[in-house]
Amino acid sequence: MALPVVAIVGRPNVGKSALFNRILGERRAIVDPMAGLTRDRLYAESEWRGRKFVIVDTAGLVLGKDRDEIPAQRELRRRMEEQSRLAIEEADLVLFVLDVREGLTAVDRDIAELLRKSRTPVLVVANKADGRGREVLASEFYELGIGDPWVISALHGTGSGDLLDAVVEKLPPPKPEVVDDKLAGRVAILGRPNVGKSSLVNALIGDARSLVTAVPGTTRDPVDTTVTFQGKRVLLVDTAGIRRPGLTRGVEQYSLLRGLRAMERADIGIVVIDAKDGLTAQDAHIAGYVVEAGRGLVLVLNKWDLLTPEEKEEKVWRRKVKEALSFAPWAPISYVSAKTGQRVAQPLEVALKVVEERRRRVSTPELNRWLRTILGKREPPTRKGKRLKVLYATQAEATTPTFVFFVNDPELVHFSYRRYLDSQLRQAFGFGGTPIRLVFRKRGEET
Ligand code: GDP
Repeated sequence: MALPVVAIVGRPNVGKSALFNRILGERRAIVDPMAGLTRDRLYAESEWRGRKFVIVDTAGLVLGKDRDEIPAQRELRRRMEEQSRLAIEEADLVLFVLDVREGLTAVDRDIAELLRKSRTPVLVVANKADGRGREVLASEFYELGIGDPWVISALHGTGSGDLLDAVVEKLPPPKPEVVDDKLAGRVAILGRPNVGKSSLVNALIGDARSLVTAVPGTTRDPVDTTVTFQGKRVLLVDTAGIRRPGLTRGVEQYSLLRGLRAMERADIGIVVIDAKDGLTAQDAHIAGYVVEAGRGLVLVLNKWDLLTPEEKEEKVWRRKVKEALSFAPWAPISYVSAKTGQRVAQPLEVALKVVEERRRRVSTPELNRWLRTILGKREPPTRKGKRLKVLYATQAEATTPTFVFFVNDPELVHFSYRRYLDSQLRQAFGFGGTPIRLVFRKRGEET
């Protein structure tokens, strides 16, 4: 399902992250903890009164070189501004956060100007209204002329319920998903700027037969391309967002937000990495989002042609990838050159295999036979003298392979035992290239 996107915008220190966390609320804790997964969440699914949406903290939308690699602060600021501008265009709703304690600043006025020019609906949020009388201070925000401020304290939660009511009211009506039974898979191609995403897509489309010509879409209505690839129909999600013809090079064309939106609508995320640059923290971040969203993950080390023969040691790369992406040791890697065409079809071939892996269903008797053998191989852990008992397991109906384990006490499930079960499941049944979710329930809470 394509969820509407709500972007939190504002100058530094007004409390964007606090608001992000407040909106996420309890849902934060539900997220499956996986080793090494990026901690600084900037993008997450949320829900209020039955309406689901994606919430984004634009402060974190910095792409390109890694943040600490950028020598000039100016460059960092430029990238952040560019990403915020793109986020405003691509969001369905913007929460413009202001600080009642500091009042209006010149930067606030600049952002307001940007917002007035864009057609994206905006809610003005007057934050840090912790004490009495803060409402009075918020009154100066009316002069911006972009709507009445919602007075809140993100830290204490005051006013956030009313704000969320307003948010869901402003969201566009849900769009029905296009159902296409003949599709073999929906694939999103993701990565930092200049890693070679467009080159790869172009190489692929050259390889495949393009069925649907991309009609230029607006930023909020992405254009997908359906291709016939080795006799199968594959949807390349938001290819227009990647290809964007006619834009001058040097402009930051790609926004992380746009990539993440594309991922939401895909089964598989192909994350392109510039092998010449090596693995960066941003690459790992992007891969982390794919895994967290429960999508299949295929890694592509591109620009293989630029490497020296010594640098082409695949074994060394596999080790490096496992270190940097310890949350996805199961992700397949393709080594390609979009420029020379070397192995360009492989990532899509692998992606379609991953789609199949995700469809695998293990029957309950088979799963429980497996469970008995692996419980015998390694005894479940104890905590405070109490031992974990795993009674039985079943695979749930879900697009991300999900296994429910009924136990005596879910609190006793240690991280390392969770990882053990994960790797044992993979050894026995496959599930290559896809995250699997393990859910632990107390016995007696079957429904
Ligand atoms: P995007 O921003 O990720 O879409 O990256 P582009 O596809 O625009 O590529 C960025 C630059 O890298 C361009 O100058 C490409 O010609 C170049 N490039 C892309 N793939 C390769 C490759 O496999 N080898 C080499 N040598 N250059 C590449």
